[in-house]
Amino acid sequence: MLYSDYHTHSSFSSDSDTPIEENIKKAVSLGIKEIAATDHIDFDYPDPDFPFLFDYEPYSKEIDRLRKIYDIKILKGVEIGVQPHVIEQINSLLNKNEYDFIIASSHVLKDKYDICKNDFFEGKTQNEAYFEYFDEVLHNVENYDFFNVYGHIDFINRYGTYKNKVINYIEFSSIIDKILKTIIQKNKGIEINTSGYRYGLNSPHPCFEILKRYYDLGGKIITVGSDAHKPEHIAYKFKYIYTMLKEIGFEGITTFNNRKPNLVKLF
Ligand SMILES: [Zn+2]
Ligand SMILES: [Zn+2]
Repeated sequence: MLYSDYHTHSSFSSDSDTPIEENIKKAVSLGIKEIAATDHIDFDYPDPDFPFLFDYEPYSKEIDRLRKIYDIKILKGVEIGVQPHVIEQINSLLNKNEYDFIIASSHVLKDKYDICKNDFFEGKTQNEAYFEYFDEVLHNVENYDFFNVYGHIDFINRYGTYKNKVINYIEFSSIIDKILKTIIQKNKGIEINTSGYRYGLNSPHPCFEILKRYYDLGGKIITVGSDAHKPEHIAYKFKYIYTMLKEIGFEGITTFNNRKPNLVKLF
């Protein structure tokens, strides 16, 4: 049984033109019980063609309308792009608007580098680029609190021009452990994001090695999200992910009510 998809984008995101309703219809057709509409807000995004901002009012009204029509729990959510210099701006926005669920993600590094563009990687070894990424994620989880799960925590390997994009956990174990331990101590979680498969990685984000480490360190809060930008992405590979979560030892997945976690025992 597919239970929930906690990472989806719609036309409220600068990089999707899918009406939220299309995602909802698809989720209903798959028998999903909960979906979080987590459109992008990324303050100070470096590409002017993608402002990654949306107004809360029309978004919230649209969710209210859809909640009356469809037999599925719809969460008002956001995927907030965290950069150290915009944390105050984020906090004031999130204090003003009511979200049921918040994903924090690192999409932009060092105040200006969009990870999905290659200029961040120029002149760096793979190891250096990945360390810089994890270093900024660590800084963010230590200094920023307004989130429920950290998004696609190892997705630096989605981009760059390196031949072998696999992240070798052992090489980065000390910084990855610090990130995971900080998240666990703060009673926050991570997501498992299946978009890695769409990017040809043969792995979700994070990869199973990191996921297993999160479990071994005591991590319990875990949401499952497709990072859908189109309806056909909804719940992609979730059955397989559930099998893997069970194999690692997780009892189930996490859902949220007013940003409070609940364990849904699935396995
Ligand atoms: Zn993202
Ligand atoms: Zn996303």
